[in-house]
This record gives sequence, structure tokens and C-alpha cells, in this order.
Amino acid sequence: MKFYKRNQTKKVNIGGIVIGEGSPIVVQSMTNTDTLDWKSTVKQIRQLQEVGCEIVRISLPSIEAAKNVSKIKKHIKIPLVADIHFDYKIALEAVKQGIDKLRINPGNIGDKEKVESVVKEAKKAHIPIRIGVNAGSLKGVHGFRDNTFRAKALANAVIEHVKILENLDFEDIVVSLKASNIDTTVQAYKIFASKRNYPLHLGITEAGSLFGGSIKSCAGLGIMLNDDIGDTLRVSLTANPVEEVKVAYSLLQAMNLRTTGLEIISCPTCARCKVDLINIVQEFEKRAALIKDLKKLKKPIKIALMGCVVNGPGEAEDADFGIAGGKDMGVLFKDGEIVGKVKPDKWVSKLISMMKTYVS
Ligand code: SF4
Repeated sequence: MKFYKRNQTKKVNIGGIVIGEGSPIVVQSMTNTDTLDWKSTVKQIRQLQEVGCEIVRISLPSIEAAKNVSKIKKHIKIPLVADIHFDYKIALEAVKQGIDKLRINPGNIGDKEKVESVVKEAKKAHIPIRIGVNAGSLKGVHGFRDNTFRAKALANAVIEHVKILENLDFEDIVVSLKASNIDTTVQAYKIFASKRNYPLHLGITEAGSLFGGSIKSCAGLGIMLNDDIGDTLRVSLTANPVEEVKVAYSLLQAMNLRTTGLEIISCPTCARCKVDLINIVQEFEKRAALIKDLKKLKKPIKIALMGCVVNGPGEAEDADFGIAGGKDMGVLFKDGEIVGKVKPDKWVSKLISMMKTYVS
């Protein structure tokens, strides 16, 4: 099976953010506020913006909610996507209100004519559409446990929906084929990527809580990203959506696909460690996240916090600078050379002040 890889997918512009054709993988999230309460929705979107969310989706369960789109857009900086189920008129209202992208599941929008009217309006307004089909909403697969069967059904359903849009001469399409089972999801994306080159929005749906859901999402998304499949992603968590963005960036950073600027290298500690490294690393992470201009680092930096000097500096040779513990003392190293000593209670402040010299 030959796949369309990231650099071979079509380019789609979502309110100024380009996905596909090898562009950097874009991080998305979704609000969990009531969209009728537009002020709370704006507040949450701003929190998402702060941590680097690049595209945000809101649910529009009603026409009234859709009428809030232009109000919300006025107060945010990132493209806004409308998530619409069942009622095509909500999609039409969202387009009228200036939404940047629609996410629909054509299977639950109803008659072909309704889908067609949404597509026609989106085309006029140059708004892309994500065809997002989830395994849970597929007809005819309930009770079938075979992952391959479910993946094929998911991919076939999406392809049928894609054809409806293609027949209307609409190709401004993004696709997602999510399931909560990793194997089903990966197989479905691979089948689709072997048939069409529309950019792919990756996700493992209903992945779970912050801890379990992050692991499940990263395992599933990691398999696809490693195969060069996927142009944008959302990590779905039963948690504050801000956490989804943080996990997404950590995943992309771990796979060398995006960088947030800072990578922390730290050891798991062992009997050789004579400092409270776990708490030191936690404190460092918290204080580093508070550096306002972290995104303005002159270049991505790696900072090491190691438990001992026996293996510390050697194991962290990749780091730009860092500290390796000793008894009541730490050895400060920079570019592989030892440049000083720092007491454990000063590690965090020393590393933070060194880090600030890298911020432009
Ligand atoms: S760096 Fe030192 S303390 Fe940390 S795991 Fe390795 S040997 Fe143990």
C-alpha cells in the first residue's frame, strides 16, 4: 500500500494557516465552553492561544450558537472552525458569520441536497471543509469487533463523502477518520492515504483522561507521524483543552517534528543521585513555562538536569547547558565543558537566568 506522505498532500488554507504539502504540522484544540456564552468561549480560546494552539474548533449545536461566530472571531487571533452535526442550516449561518473552516460529518447532515447547499456556500466563501467521520457514528459496524473491518468501513464512508464534494468540484478538503481504538484508526488513515491526497487531521477520539489519553494519543499519532502521515492534529483529552495543546507539542517535539523552543533532558535518578531531582525538575519546568518570550528563543535549546556527574554530563552531551548533581553541589556544564558549581537550591534560578540569555 503506497501512502500519500505529508509533502505530497494538497495545500489547504484555513484562515491564513496553511496545512498540507509538507507544511509544519499544525496543532489544534477544541473549546469545551458553552458557545452561547461567547465571553467564556473567547476566554478559553485566548488561553489556548497563549500555549500555542494554532487552530481552534467550537461546537455549534444551534443557530443561536452560530450567530456568536463573528463576535468570537473579533476577540481572537487564530482561525476558528465550526463543528456541526445534524442541521445544515447551522453550517450556512456559520459561513455567513465568517467562520474559517467547517467540520461536518456528511452522514448526519442528511439529504445530499443539504450537503450540497453547504458545499456551495463554503466554495463561494473559500472556506475549507473537514470531513470528519468517527467510527462511533458509522452505520453497519456496531457489533463488529474486527479492527480491519471497522477501518475499511471508516475509510470507505469518508471516501464516499469526499466524492460528493469532488462531484461539486470542491477540493478544499481536510479529512479525519477517528476511532478510539489505535489499530482501527491507524489502518483507516493508511487506507485513506493510499487513495486520496487530501491533508489529514489526526486524532484518536475519546482517548481518555490527561494521563491515559495522552499516552494513547501519542502512541497512535506517533505511529502515523512516523510513517509521514498527518498534517494537523488534535489530542483529545477529558481535561482542560490547554493540556491537549501541551501534549501535542510535547509529542511533536519528541518526534523532532516541531519545537517549542525548549527541550528538558533529565534522568530518572538512581542510587547515585544525592539531590531532590524530581522536585527540582518540576520547579524548573514550571518556572520555564512562565518565561513570557519562550517562543522568541533565538534557537531551540536543550537544558539538562542530571542526578549525578558519573553519567550526567556524558548522557546529556546533546544539551546546550545543564547541571549534574553531586553531594550538596552540582556541576554546571555548557557545550560539553564544565564551567562552574551550583548548590542544589540555586539550580533552578541559575538555569532560568542562563536560559533568558537565549531569548531575543
Ligand atoms: S545520571 Fe546519574 S543519577 Fe541519573 S540515572 Fe544516570 S547514573 Fe543515576
